[in-house]
Amino acid sequence: MALNVRKIWRRGIDLLPIQGFHFDRPLVLLQSDDWGRIGLRDREGLDQLRTAGLELGERPYDFYTLETAEDVCALQQILERHRDSTGRPPCVAMNFLLANLDFRRMKGEGFRQIHLQPLAVGLPDGWQRPNLFDAYRSGITGGVFYPSLHGTTHFCRPAVERHLHDDGERGRLLRILWEAGTPYIHWRMPWVGYEYWDPEGSGDRFLRANEQSGLIGQAVGQFSRMFSALPHSACAPGYRANEDTHQAWAQHGIEVAQDGPGTLTPPHLDHNGILHLYRTVEFEPAVDPAFSLDTCLHRAEECFRLHLPAIVSVHSINFHSSVKNFRSHTLALLDEFFSALEAKYSELFYLHDRDIFQLVHQGWFETKHGPVHVNVTKRSFTRSAMARGAET
Ligand SMILES: [Zn+2]
Repeated sequence: MALNVRKIWRRGIDLLPIQGFHFDRPLVLLQSDDWGRIGLRDREGLDQLRTAGLELGERPYDFYTLETAEDVCALQQILERHRDSTGRPPCVAMNFLLANLDFRRMKGEGFRQIHLQPLAVGLPDGWQRPNLFDAYRSGITGGVFYPSLHGTTHFCRPAVERHLHDDGERGRLLRILWEAGTPYIHWRMPWVGYEYWDPEGSGDRFLRANEQSGLIGQAVGQFSRMFSALPHSACAPGYRANEDTHQAWAQHGIEVAQDGPGTLTPPHLDHNGILHLYRTVEFEPAVDPAFSLDTCLHRAEECFRLHLPAIVSVHSINFHSSVKNFRSHTLALLDEFFSALEAKYSELFYLHDRDIFQLVHQGWFETKHGPVHVNVTKRSFTRSAMARGAET
């Protein structure tokens, strides 16, 4: 579709009434991105990059590494300490990247093309993460982690491939990082884009439908290899998803799309049958200098008042500890957040994405002790009204 036609069509869609779901109980979900994605190769990688001339430390994402088994276990322990009114602990939807770069193979070819190392096979050379995959599985079995789909690489492959043979600044930066076992540091090079979105691409910058569908098919295949199950919920890297992304997700069995924060948009179904869930509480102490627990609690209360679920966004960096300890502070705050909600709301439910999907279709969700009913009502809204709300 030509860009102008697409724009007008989009504007038309924004004015159409949508049926939003509202719930008569306080519901809390947690959604967390970037699990399984490597960054700085711990202290050794940091030293190597500093020697190569990169001045790291300007922003928190300079210290993004990869979760360790201890980080994951510590999160599991905090979650297991809490219970909702049905006796269930909070559950984190962990959005996984299913591959990293195969630096050894790429180096052998002079970094002239991208090769991927599937997560299910292990981490690239030089990475040590004993028992990490067991730690993921332990939390999944314990019902406190809900593995979901983020993507394969996070960055947009065509955007990076454009600079593979480049002797300029961008090509040099890629090679310095890859020599040190780090794929990219986004804020230093936003031109790498997001998996389905090429910042220097044509038109609306999204990859074509068939390209997106191919990438999503590969990611779903790698997900099932890693977790012996298919994903039901997905969040596009950088929240950059369009109609083609949603359609490809639906074709690959995704039932829930996780949308970014900024509005109080009610959950709703799209014409592919996908349930859209919008993040409403940004809980990012590692990266937000203005973070306030009170603000997060007020935001959750506002959601409950509007009969919307409080959907907490907390990226994996908040739990990292191998170069900089982001984890301890986050876990202490999360512990307090849950305690405050449990003390105030005796009818609180901790759910994950698929529970909500079940709820909007059946009016109940399944627990170990049987089905739990929640009144779900539908109310009309328009996207344009939501966008106006976000601006004010
Ligand atoms: Zn991400």
